Amino acid sequence: MALCRCIEEHSWPRGKENIYVAYVYPIGYPTTAALCPLCQRSGVIWLNEDEANAVEAGQRIIKMKTNSVWLKADDRPIVRRT
Ligand SMILES: [Zn+2]
Repeated sequence: MALCRCIEEHSWPRGKENIYVAYVYPIGYPTTAALCPLCQRSGVIWLNEDEANAVEAGQRIIKMKTNSVWLKADDRPIVRRT
């Protein structure tokens, strides 16, 4: 499930159940309401493989881990780990 974390300090998060392979920008980034819960910087949306594939196929509404909020990505391409 997708996570919100900043790029500057908490990038490439590691989950117990998810391997994060890509991220996408929430609408408005970097002036966004989506904040990294660890440091309050603006956050991006980290995606596992299935979520990254869905975003590449056109899905822009992303259900976040815990389902407490869904975020909408902007039109920039996703950034995959190289
Ligand atoms: Zn952070």
